[in-house]
Amino acid sequence: MSKILEVKNLNLGFNLSDGFRQAIYNVSFSLEKGETLAIVGESGCGKTVSTMSVLQLLPPSAEIKSGEIIYNNKNLLSFNQKQMQQIRGKKIALIPQDPMTSLNPLYTIGNQLLEVIELHQGLKGQEAFEVAIKALERVKIPDAKEKMKAYPHEFSGGMKQRVIIAMALACKAEIIIADEPTTALDVTVQAQIMDILKEIKEKYGISIILITHDLGIVAQNADKIAVMYAGRIVEYSGNKELFDNPKHPYTKALLNVILDINTDEVQTIEGHPPSITDNISGCPFHPRCKECMEICAQKAPCLKSAGDSLVACHLFD
Ligand code: SF4
Repeated sequence: MSKILEVKNLNLGFNLSDGFRQAIYNVSFSLEKGETLAIVGESGCGKTVSTMSVLQLLPPSAEIKSGEIIYNNKNLLSFNQKQMQQIRGKKIALIPQDPMTSLNPLYTIGNQLLEVIELHQGLKGQEAFEVAIKALERVKIPDAKEKMKAYPHEFSGGMKQRVIIAMALACKAEIIIADEPTTALDVTVQAQIMDILKEIKEKYGISIILITHDLGIVAQNADKIAVMYAGRIVEYSGNKELFDNPKHPYTKALLNVILDINTDEVQTIEGHPPSITDNISGCPFHPRCKECMEICAQKAPCLKSAGDSLVACHLFD
């Protein structure tokens, strides 16, 4: 497999009223062609901010202090907005949690699909129409021709997500960033959307970055996993390794949450992740860690090799 995207030592934060606050610390990950990388962690751990920096879709207060985002041997951080327009949607597509943030309620599904095909593929008329129909069929939208005339409000949440995936396919995107793509959907529809993503990955070699807090979805769909906590990657591992042999106490705590759900006893991880305005000393997980040692409150652990994984924890020093 060849590397299609590499994020290297990304450091970014936000300029708040009381000054600059770092949110992402030395985050590095890579994505191979046809691979799914899942980024997991609780809300506010930096999953979305790290990946939105790939698309340069950050709020105005955000500032990238250092790092590189290498896509096809070019550093996207050196691209201006005009250059990024050639990447966003066309090469790297985003599937948001709420598809209505990407669909315009005033235009038909067909209008919107044809618009992106014209913009990114330069196709018009019958040629564009055929590409649109094919894309809708690939995501298993029945009566694709008829559905081109429908408005987004006539579609269910799952069908809208399929349209967004169809847009990525029609533009021949190489990478899809799926940000909690199934959170708003019921369980059966969730499975259908994940099956479609899996199928397009396998058939067309599309690479996927899957942002989620649902480890059940990760277990079934990811090739490798980055576990994030307080803006840092704390464990980076292959799927089998992570689920068979989780190492970081935070990963183990996340896994215990789903195990307990299976036995109908929902147990959460005590406490909350720190916010970016908190001053953290030592390991950011130490106030919540069941295996905390004296050193943990004093010194932050670095991400190091531990067997087949990378782990940031003093237990593996
Ligand atoms: Fe827990 Fe210490 Fe490891 Fe942090 S470094 S996860 S506090 S054992």
